[in-house]
Amino acid sequence: MPEATGPARRRPHPVKWLVIAALASAAAVTLFLTLFHDAGSTITTEAPKIAGTIVSRDLALPVPIAVPAEAAPAIVSEPVSKRIDFEIASGDTLHQLFAASKLNRSHLAQILQLDQARTHLQLLRPGDRLSVVHDDGDIVHLQRVLDEERTMEVTRNGDGFDLKVTTNPVEVRTAHAHGVIDSSLYLAAQEAGISDTLIMNLAGIFAWDVDFVLDIRTGDRFTMIYEEIWQDGEKLRDGDILAAEFINSGKTFRAIRFENPEKEVGYFTPDGLNVKKAFLRAPIAINPRVTSSFNPRRKHPVHNKVLPHKGVDYSAPTGTAIKAAGDGKVIFRGRKGGYGNTIILQHGGNITTLYAHLSKFHSRARSGKRVKQGQLIGYSGATGTVTAAHLHYEYRVGGVHRNPRTVRLPKAQPIAKKYRNLYVKAAAPLLQQLELVERTLRVATSQPAHQ
Ligand SMILES: [Zn+2]
Repeated sequence: MPEATGPARRRPHPVKWLVIAALASAAAVTLFLTLFHDAGSTITTEAPKIAGTIVSRDLALPVPIAVPAEAAPAIVSEPVSKRIDFEIASGDTLHQLFAASKLNRSHLAQILQLDQARTHLQLLRPGDRLSVVHDDGDIVHLQRVLDEERTMEVTRNGDGFDLKVTTNPVEVRTAHAHGVIDSSLYLAAQEAGISDTLIMNLAGIFAWDVDFVLDIRTGDRFTMIYEEIWQDGEKLRDGDILAAEFINSGKTFRAIRFENPEKEVGYFTPDGLNVKKAFLRAPIAINPRVTSSFNPRRKHPVHNKVLPHKGVDYSAPTGTAIKAAGDGKVIFRGRKGGYGNTIILQHGGNITTLYAHLSKFHSRARSGKRVKQGQLIGYSGATGTVTAAHLHYEYRVGGVHRNPRTVRLPKAQPIAKKYRNLYVKAAAPLLQQLELVERTLRVATSQPAHQ
């Protein structure tokens, strides 16, 4: 295909293929006739070798059909090309797919000889898509979408194949949104016409300061500047949130996205503080249910005597993902008496966290290994002294147990000093824009000014 950019790239039109195939066939006939006339009788023995299968098939045409003069040369063949769309499954190879679909495998071998084809066709991953237009098994065209912006096209050209990679760059547009909460954040998002993903991301940014289930009040509002990814005049999806503001019970939280020169991305307050804390409040999915609180004078359910409960128990069916509460190092992994299968992490600031009664450890959370906040370290279970599957979680500072639910959590790393100026410069226009959007849309919906 000569002009492969534009919508046709993503939704090739079958009729278009048929016309192209027809044109190619007509061209081959013309070529053959030209050769025949020019070279006289000598060509008769050469013909099959020169023009290959196209010529022999076209010569065998039962009835050539006429088409309008503006559409094609006088004669074309009956359209015969068919298209197959493959979606690669695990373990698939091109050779198998070609064999199963009765496609010409010597054509495949020929295509794989092309320089870029080797790079772009050898490594196929499950989910990759490939489409092949063939003519009774002979490859006319092969297309593979390499990524959002690039497509590889292989087109038959006489005896051989031409390959080209076409690009169709996406366009990043900046958009903004503003919403006021009546009952829930999700309803407010719906009213503002914002996607679920975008509002989830917004909640994720402020989740460290705002509990979106318990703390939300009528009149809370949000404003955000975000990216949209467009291609061919169509929106593909939402991109990153660049700046956001959330006003919760009159208290304003702001966050700016910043990517430092080392490609580390985070959200920071206008002052350059990290919006994240160094620790997750609970090392388990959002809004876990507490079944036993931190209690120094608790009566133990199994031993039936006063035994302090030095952590928090979270209801967690066996197999629930358990995450590292903060960046740290695995200093213990194994069986630990009544704790059952246990992991202990050492963090900065002389803090350790402990995760007990696990059914399984994650293979990457081995003793001595470093883990990142939020990284999967194991799965909940009922090992050790327990009445039901749950996660027992402890947080210690300098060896002293603290209540994980109320302990003041340290902030994650702020903007590094060396990137401070860079951050201020990047954040200023975003903050300005945020304020402008907030002001304009607040007036539009006649809300009171925020404090
Ligand atoms: Zn416990």
